[in-house]
Amino acid sequence: MPNTLGVQAQATTGGVIRSVEQLTKLQLQALESDLPLIVIGDGSNIVPANQTRACIGVMRIPGIYTRKASADAVCVEVAAGESWHALVLFCLARGLHGLENLALIPGRVGAAPIQNIGAYGVELADYVQAVDVIDREGSHHRLNRDECEFSYRDSVFKRRTDLVVTHLHLELCTEFRPILDYPGVRSALEQLGVAQFKAADLVNAIMAIRREKLPDPLREPNAGSFFVNPIVSFDTADRLRSQLGDLQTYTYDGRVKLSAAELIDKAGWKSRGSKKVSCWPQQPLVIVNRGETEAEKILQFAYQIQEDIQQRFQVSLELEPSVLS
Ligand code: NAP
Repeated sequence: MPNTLGVQAQATTGGVIRSVEQLTKLQLQALESDLPLIVIGDGSNIVPANQTRACIGVMRIPGIYTRKASADAVCVEVAAGESWHALVLFCLARGLHGLENLALIPGRVGAAPIQNIGAYGVELADYVQAVDVIDREGSHHRLNRDECEFSYRDSVFKRRTDLVVTHLHLELCTEFRPILDYPGVRSALEQLGVAQFKAADLVNAIMAIRREKLPDPLREPNAGSFFVNPIVSFDTADRLRSQLGDLQTYTYDGRVKLSAAELIDKAGWKSRGSKKVSCWPQQPLVIVNRGETEAEKILQFAYQIQEDIQQRFQVSLELEPSVLS
């Protein structure tokens, strides 16, 4: 089974899904074999077991279609098997704006709504109109934005694992309204040395930041951020501030978002890994695998971090990748 974490992983059965018909066939095959159907994209956000008892579908349904929605908005319908970053570049080339800050996020389009991908102040949910899914019985449904129940790195699709995403409907803008609030974005743009920046410059700046800070899975196998940033109460944030001194905090939906990377760093985990599994020094939220073949060993390392953060700070860290067993 493909996975960017670089572990050996086999499934009972499976296949590549290039059309909705092939998906329906695979659903039937899984049902008849009494196996769960698990659909993956590039395997960039999973921790697979060495032997997973499941039917694995590798999502590759292609297609991107655009339709003018109003004077300054265009609807983009994109199939789940398209590469996310290729979609960002497709939109950029056509003057459709909104996704610039989400450049270079790994994975396929179908995975994007599941965890409501976000980076540098932009969330997928900001642009979603609807998501098409097929349920276990093969019935097609279109969920509007509200029905997707998007929140921080979360959606209804994390709970409704019987739904397979087939298409995403986005509404993008023909006017470029850059979001530059995150640290490093303005300075990365300045480093490009252009007097008046365009959307392509912002995409290049985001790509430069990510390349500098995040490990390339082809050289340093990893599954991206291993933990979700915790959202806590104001009281908890105050307690942590008095415990730790300085602390990054951001208001999110009437609560406080903390940086999981900062907590992991303050607990000393940058230097507490082994030769084979450790946190990435420039971004300790990412766990890199330098030689483990078993996902279980990587998970044990992640559980140790979770336990330590809970004990030191009474903050619970949720795993971001899906763990397949
Ligand atoms: P950073 O600048 O070190 O900041 C740490 C955390 O603080 C980030 O995760 C971010 O939360 C939050 N943050 C920073 N500035 C903020 C602001 N102005 N308003 C609200 N929240 C703010 O972060 P980083 O690790 O370099 O990451 C930068 C961006 O890349 C983040 O958006 C992050 O989600 C994304 N990223 C994604 C992955 C991945 O594997 N999927 C890995 C690394 C980074 P948010 O995460 O909510 O934005």
